[in-house]
Amino acid sequence: MKANPEHQRVLLDVAELDQRSLRAEHARKNPPQAARVGELSVLRQEQLRELTTLAGTRDDIQTELRRLEADVALVEQRSTRDSQRLAAATNPKDAVALEQEIASLARRRSDLEDAQLDVMSRLEEAEAALAVQQALIDTTTAEGAELSAQAKAQIAAATTELEHLVRDRAALTAALPEALIAEYNRRVTRTAGAALLRRGTCEGCRMVLSGIDMNKIRQAAADEVVYCPECSCILVRTEESGI
Ligand SMILES: [Zn+2]
Repeated sequence: MKANPEHQRVLLDVAELDQRSLRAEHARKNPPQAARVGELSVLRQEQLRELTTLAGTRDDIQTELRRLEADVALVEQRSTRDSQRLAAATNPKDAVALEQEIASLARRRSDLEDAQLDVMSRLEEAEAALAVQQALIDTTTAEGAELSAQAKAQIAAATTELEHLVRDRAALTAALPEALIAEYNRRVTRTAGAALLRRGTCEGCRMVLSGIDMNKIRQAAADEVVYCPECSCILVRTEESGI
């Protein structure tokens, strides 16, 4: 195929834009933060499950405490009733029985209050553990939000870059013959599309051309489109080609 050497050189700029587009596309689809954001999401789920367990423990202790408070109230009620009866008692035998019961209720109350102190201390520990876990979750959430924001910004930047590259490419290819750009487009899906022949080396695949291949290229007219014998991209000749 024939093409103006100047047009062939423009293909090098098109190829460079296409390489940058590929990188921008990759950056858009694979923000470097994505893996860590995924890890944090899994971690957060685990931390939330642990929080639920800790909240359950705290709730159980609160229930226990309320039960003890109700028991203390009941003992107090009985003790007050017995004291009133004792004050009104006329029979000494009844009075002794009431005094014994009042003493027994006092011991019971003391035991309940000891148990209450123990449960309150466990409640404090459970609430502290819950607060520590919530702080862990907050840290995970904050890191995730920060990284997501960074990823979003990078995706937006890559998208903008991609738009510019597409616009620049359109401007470049508008000046090229349709057949030449079609030839390039066919090849760019598998190769660099077009590459500079620099000192006997294809810059598309880094292959050093043999003397025979270089001779063929030397004999080709400047407006003849030549191809790399290795990767089959369009080889663009300039003063750097070593011809
Ligand atoms: Zn090549």
